[in-house]
Amino acid sequence: DLAPLRRALLSVSDKTGLIDLARALTARDVELLSTGGSAAALRDAGLAVTDVAEVTGFPEMMDGRVKTLHPGVHGGLLALRDDAAHVAAMEEHGIGPIDLLVVNLYPFEATVAKGADYATAIENIDIGGPAMIRAAAKNHAFVSVVTDVQDYDALLAELDANDGQTTYAFRQKLALTAYARTGAYDAAVSGWMAGALGDTAPRRRVFAGTLAQTLRYGENPHQSAAFYTDGSTKPGIANARQLQGKELSYNNINDTDAAFELVSEFSPEDGPVCAIIKHANPCGVARGASLSEAYSRAYDCDRTSAFGGIVALNQPLDADTARAITEIFTEVVIAPGADDAAREIFAAKKNLRLLLTDGLSDPTEAGLAIKQVSGGFLVQDRDNGRIGEWELKTVTKRAPTRDELRDLLFAWTVAKHVKSNAIVYVKDGATVGVGAGQMSRVDSTRIAARKSADMAEALGLGSPTTQGSVVASDAFFPFPDGLLTAAEAGATAVIQPGGSMRDDKVIEAADEAGLAMVFTGMRHFRH
Ligand code: 5GP
Repeated sequence: DLAPLRRALLSVSDKTGLIDLARALTARDVELLSTGGSAAALRDAGLAVTDVAEVTGFPEMMDGRVKTLHPGVHGGLLALRDDAAHVAAMEEHGIGPIDLLVVNLYPFEATVAKGADYATAIENIDIGGPAMIRAAAKNHAFVSVVTDVQDYDALLAELDANDGQTTYAFRQKLALTAYARTGAYDAAVSGWMAGALGDTAPRRRVFAGTLAQTLRYGENPHQSAAFYTDGSTKPGIANARQLQGKELSYNNINDTDAAFELVSEFSPEDGPVCAIIKHANPCGVARGASLSEAYSRAYDCDRTSAFGGIVALNQPLDADTARAITEIFTEVVIAPGADDAAREIFAAKKNLRLLLTDGLSDPTEAGLAIKQVSGGFLVQDRDNGRIGEWELKTVTKRAPTRDELRDLLFAWTVAKHVKSNAIVYVKDGATVGVGAGQMSRVDSTRIAARKSADMAEALGLGSPTTQGSVVASDAFFPFPDGLLTAAEAGATAVIQPGGSMRDDKVIEAADEAGLAMVFTGMRHFRH
């Protein structure tokens, strides 16, 4: 199953490592063919190389759109060396076998990431490259195809280990990598077009990403894992710069994303906001007059859970906040910047990871959310729904006061980022109780209230922190019981989608308890 390597075609956009590879191949008596730019680079380095134009009998033309698309190339890649008819065809048409193809494609992903215009993006769709890669990969019984600069060394090692030949198993592995590359490439083109056309209909989409990082393990140590990016240049977890601390883990990435997406709901112009996340759920979100006050108010929602949490800020980290954060064990801090004094304070905490983004993410932006199920995956629009104050419908006799209204909207925004069933109590722009991920809504309501009572006791407060709070529910209350639990805990106003068959009973109970209640008409399930 060993295949000889006598003739290679090198055609690369990224010329990294090209000369070293070519020199090593020449030293092993491999004849080199190459396309325009690659050939020029090789000649500059003093290497002997044949132009593909000489092989095809055609010049490279149409701005490089047509360089290698010719039987002289594709016949050499696709011919079965052990098939008499194929060999005869090669001889008849003067086609020489190509045993190795080294290609990396026009940098389409990088070009569109830089914000290229439509025509530039189109011109950066490589045609001949993927055609050759797919041909060589198909014929891996005889041909080696290298599509990644990182595989150059492995190729040379393979040749050394096998007297200048390659093994079948090696070529199979290269082919596998090659098809992954062409698949991801076309997915990137498709994804870009969907964005350019504003057409996010999932039925026309294909999903693929680029491997960004192999992770030490997944959700648990016995699961292997990796992080793939989709080419987006938006501020967020995939594009954040890590300034210090250990490598992020799978759970860190997941939780930090949840934290940053939540805090990005709050524009910096509306004042500092801090969110603390554990297991992808917020255990405290708060506004403050200063960023450090926002942090300490978020921390006071649930100090127990905040231990080992992820902190996200909607404004650049300052020294006061940095000092406050370092007082307890925190896994990750993500913020749109950090001043020098803050960085200095963090530098003393080597394990604390600090991630900086360029601004906040846009919660109203369209996009897709993907979730895996056994045997497939579900795709839906990203939940970019948002409710303005003017869209709220007061359904009780009493309308919320100005202060209640402000807190209701804050609670509603936080509830969008809490796993269902989500219940969020808020007072004066800070969560005071969060109930997440329960199978019954009334349980979430009770858990949130109980956590708040525990916190009040720990803080030495006379009354539960839910006293005089407002409450948000991510979906409607199916019965009055959840609402009444919230009223008992001291909530005075409620925000929820409405739409239950028993809305009238729930409204009646709210009126009896003297609550003000508004309906959003929008639900925020999150699972
Ligand atoms: P070079 O820098 O050597 O002139 O061009 C190398 C690039 O051209 C590689 O990225 C390769 O995938 C691409 N390429 C090779 N043949 C063709 C072709 O026939 N058409 C197009 N559009 N690109 C090609």
